[in-house]
This record gives sequence, C-alpha cells and structure tokens, in this order.
Amino acid sequence: MTPMTAAQKQRYSRQIMLAGLGAEGQEALLDARVAIVGLGALGSFQAAALARAGIGHLALIDRDYVELVNLQRQWLYEEADAQEALPKAIAAARHLARVNSEVRLTAHVADLTADNIAELLEGAELILDGTDNFETRYLINDYAVRQGLPWIYGAALGTYGLSMPVLPGRTACLKCLYPSPPQGAPPTCETEGILNAVTSAVASLQAAAALKILAGQAAALEPRITTLDLWTGEIRQIRQPGPQPGCRACGERRFEHLEGAGRDPITLCGRNAVQIHQRAGPVDLAELKRRLAPLGEVRANEFALRFSTPPYQITIFPDGRAIIQGTTDPGVARGLYARYVGG
Ligand SMILES: [Zn+2]
Repeated sequence: MTPMTAAQKQRYSRQIMLAGLGAEGQEALLDARVAIVGLGALGSFQAAALARAGIGHLALIDRDYVELVNLQRQWLYEEADAQEALPKAIAAARHLARVNSEVRLTAHVADLTADNIAELLEGAELILDGTDNFETRYLINDYAVRQGLPWIYGAALGTYGLSMPVLPGRTACLKCLYPSPPQGAPPTCETEGILNAVTSAVASLQAAAALKILAGQAAALEPRITTLDLWTGEIRQIRQPGPQPGCRACGERRFEHLEGAGRDPITLCGRNAVQIHQRAGPVDLAELKRRLAPLGEVRANEFALRFSTPPYQITIFPDGRAIIQGTTDPGVARGLYARYVGG
C-alpha cells in the first residue's frame, strides 16, 4: 500500500479520525478500485461520496444521457449537461474530476451486458448497484458471486427504498432472495414518481457499506436488509440471511445471466423510449451526421449523435447502440433504427 502524503493526511483527516477507519483504512481507500453501474439518482450520489472519500479508481458505467427531468434527483448533473445531452458517464466524470482530481476516473458509455461485463468491471474489487432493473442486477450478481466480489444492492421508488450488501460466501445473494424477478408489472419511475431524499438515503447506506468493506472492515459489517419509507418515516432492518443451499447462483454456481444473449431491444424504465443494442457495430458519427442532415435536425459531438424526426428522437452512440425516444414499441424502434442508422 502506498503511504499517504502530508496533503492526503490533511485532506482526509476527518475520515482518518473515525474509529474503525484510521490511517490504514484511508490508505486502503486510496488504493481501492470500485465500479458503479448506473449513474442515475443512486449511482451519481454514490460516485460523489466515494470520490470525496478518496477512492483510488472509479469505473463509471451508464448507458443513458442527461435530461432535464433527471435533475430533480440525480445529484451530480446540471442544466448544461441536459442541454448538451451529455452521456451520464461523461458528465459524471467531468464533475467528479473537479471534486477530487486525485481519483482516477474511467467513464464507460455503455449498457452492461453479458458480453462486456468482464471488460467493464475488470479490476473492480467492489460493485455498487445504481441500476433500475432486475436484468442488470442479476448480471451483476452472477458476476460478483462467480468472482467472489462484494456488491451492494439498492433500489428506490416513490418514497420507498431498500439496500442490501451481498457478500459472496457469507450472505444470501440476490438470486437466493429473488430466484426470479418479483411478479407482476413493476411500477415504473414515471407512473410512481420518486422522492429525491429517498434516493440519497439509499445511496448513503450503500456508500457506507462500501467504504467499510473497502477500508478492510468487512468482517465487522453486520449485513442487514434495510427498508425505508421517508414519507411515513418508517425504517426497518432485518438481519440478512446466509447463502441458500438451493440457489442457482451461489449454491449451484450456474451463472445463466453471464451466458445470456440479452440483446433484444428493451423498453427503458419510465422513459417512453426503447434501447437498441449495437446492431450496426461501430458508427462514424460525423459521417452519419452528414447523411442524416437533409432528413431532419441533427446534432453530434464526440460522445453521441442526436437526430430528431418528430415525434421521435434518436440518440446514437459510437458503438452503434441507440436510444429511441417517443415509443415503447420495440418494433417501431427497430424500424426507425434500420431506416436511419442501418444494420
Ligand atoms: Zn445465492
């Protein structure tokens, strides 16, 4: 472990003073590598908390771009990010670099899939869940259990939230508790709304568990499932069960989500939008801009191209992935993609 400089001792002094963290814990944080998957309300708060705490390396992974409707609860972003339609991973990295220039930041504008998870999470010793869907959480769970890495589950909707650490070999994993996704159509962010304070509360619980584990205090962490409703003020905790023997992931070590194709177009949570995976392969955004210019309004920067053809808006990333706004019908989205992008 690298010894701290005098400036670091000063900068992190309020944290080093904490019993249970200390200079040794801080040195571990400075060397730590963490991946944050999803940089919405939960992930952007986690990222800021960990960057301020002096985590050595943060991998920031998100598939989406900033919109005005995000700003009510997505702590890192500003109006200018939404105006530029910056990918969240890029906007987050820019802001965090100003918060703590010592942290090494890697921004990945990508949807985490079975195909890229090993590459995007490479080297991470802990994973923070900032996602909004079970599909990605199962993927994270399979990967973390297979690699023996801790990950911290978190979810928030309405005025309600939940957090839970998954420590492979010691606690139940996500698949132990939910062998299949919870039944019934889950309410979306759009229909339910969300209280911003509940997202920061859940993200704080996740960040605290992460810091404790990364500081070398995992053995002292009492794994609990915490549920809270910040409108009624009700907070509950139950002791987290241990690994369940029949679990497909941590019991039988069958990691079906890591083998899954997961490439069908998917409707994005509360977005009136469909995501199309990289069908066309890498796309030359400048060339595409020239091609689309006669057909409608088109704007592009190095991170994304946005093409408007009312009532639809198509955002294309350099890897060929696209988000088609204005529909929740995968067939319509596929058709628009084929017409304007190709593939
Ligand atoms: Zn399990």
